[in-house]
Amino acid sequence: MRNAEVVAMLEETADLIEIAGENPFKARAYRRAAEAIAALQEPIEELVRTKRLHTVEGIGESIARDITEFLQRGTTTRLEQLRAKYPPQLRTLLEIQGVGPRTVAMLYDRLKITTVDELEAAAKAGKLAKLPGMGEQKIRNILESIQVWRRQQERVPIHIALSLAERIVAALQELPEVIAILPAGSLRRWKETVGDLDILVAARNTQPVMDKFTKLPEVQKVLAHGTTKSSVLMANNLQVDLRAVEPESFGAAAQYFTGSKAHNIALRNLALKHGLTVNEYGVFREATGEKVAGETEEGVYEALGLVWIPPELREDRGELEAALKGALPRLVTLDDIRGETHSHTRWSDGAATVEEMARAAMERGYEYIAITDHSPPMGWGVKPDDFRKLIREIRQVSDRLGFPVLAGIEVDIASDGSLHMDEDILRQLDLVIASVHSAMKMDMDAMTRRILKAMENPLVHIIGHPTGRLINQRPPYEVRVDALIEKARETGVALEINGSPERLDLNDEHARIARDAGVLLSIGTDAHRTEHLAFMRFGVAVARRAWCEPKDIVNTRPYTELREWLSARRR
Ligand SMILES: [Zn+2]
Ligand SMILES: [Zn+2]
Repeated sequence: MRNAEVVAMLEETADLIEIAGENPFKARAYRRAAEAIAALQEPIEELVRTKRLHTVEGIGESIARDITEFLQRGTTTRLEQLRAKYPPQLRTLLEIQGVGPRTVAMLYDRLKITTVDELEAAAKAGKLAKLPGMGEQKIRNILESIQVWRRQQERVPIHIALSLAERIVAALQELPEVIAILPAGSLRRWKETVGDLDILVAARNTQPVMDKFTKLPEVQKVLAHGTTKSSVLMANNLQVDLRAVEPESFGAAAQYFTGSKAHNIALRNLALKHGLTVNEYGVFREATGEKVAGETEEGVYEALGLVWIPPELREDRGELEAALKGALPRLVTLDDIRGETHSHTRWSDGAATVEEMARAAMERGYEYIAITDHSPPMGWGVKPDDFRKLIREIRQVSDRLGFPVLAGIEVDIASDGSLHMDEDILRQLDLVIASVHSAMKMDMDAMTRRILKAMENPLVHIIGHPTGRLINQRPPYEVRVDALIEKARETGVALEINGSPERLDLNDEHARIARDAGVLLSIGTDAHRTEHLAFMRFGVAVARRAWCEPKDIVNTRPYTELREWLSARRR
């Protein structure tokens, strides 16, 4: 399956079109196509072979030609032409906030700058100041953004690491030598970003496993190639370590390499009290060296008098104490989720119709879905008159499919805390999410007041992505989350755990505080395409890291109970 390569080609083409200053609509078309292919479930080669490429939403004739050419030649004429004008490594400069495509072109044309290091050096040497539009403040901002960018290079968002890990596991699992395989480390704990990827295999004959691993098509550089450990660099500069252990030690290794460091230290201290030592090979009696556990992870915890602790809890945030008391939470699972609470359609900035979203929810085995398109003033927000039509369409689709489709909205919270939609429409809607999308640079008090006011509005059920952060892209706006949690407890408004892997907002720590305060949470994916409904697993992971049980999550409730909660807010 070459989908990821095609996506990379389309994104590079889009970036270079922008740097070259060509028609911005063309660049957008390439980006839309890249997004569509990233979401595809089947191999793109198969679509080309069966001449179905044009059935993919967002792929026009000329992009289809590029894709076909790329699959044959590994490049495209269009890309070659663009690369001849601007070297592809310039694209990295676009990742620096405040440096747009026009600036990149100017930096290259005037100063031949192609890398972030060169940009930084030129800024410090005062060379940028001579360029048009480069004031002192702008140069300071660029230098600051470079620092932020350097920090981000170290960790990649979980969804990218997870899909890479899944491809590696699928490839290695085919080998008969592999007895068991497991991605460990922070990925197994479902942390929102991953530093490097640790994969563990149980095998006796390890050479063929290591050989295949270091020759995987996505490997960009082999850092080490041994019989028990190999390390490679893959896309996004992600380092992947593969460790091979004997099956007798697999459980101990899984425990050890899953971490976290803090959890493992606490575990070792507990072991010492029992006269035991724990390492990646097993649990041993200190006095005699006798091995008492190691083959399974359950056995390792059991040897220490504990029940098995789910990886998401292994952060030394009270999980050992809870396990000793037999008081670990019964964590919410994907299976507990009965419906989607946050989704968009073509009426605003989504890619699918109401019916397509509803059918996709049915296919996932859900009992309901809420369609929550945007309000103005977002450029793509649905205007009041159209919203009335949208509500009618939702009711019709729901009747036709015999499947509950809730008429909802993601309404903008204005700077003064009022809602950007006519009240008579809000009253007709089954579910109202209120979110901040604009004027994010308010001071902390004003922003907190703004959201609290929306929470006091009895028409509001859920606060969407409560802190507004975008992982590795935008910090949260300034807001007192503890005040939101307190207000949620008081009013019964739910706070969202937005499951879009770019957002994961609330994050795990805030969600834990909310959960401990008895606040109701809603996990919504913010799906803008049918495939995005699958983001639910990321939202559930945040909830699990926050110790949430099914009762803490409003969309684990059956449809009738959800309706009761929704209408109770209105009374
Ligand atoms: Zn939103
Ligand atoms: Zn949304």
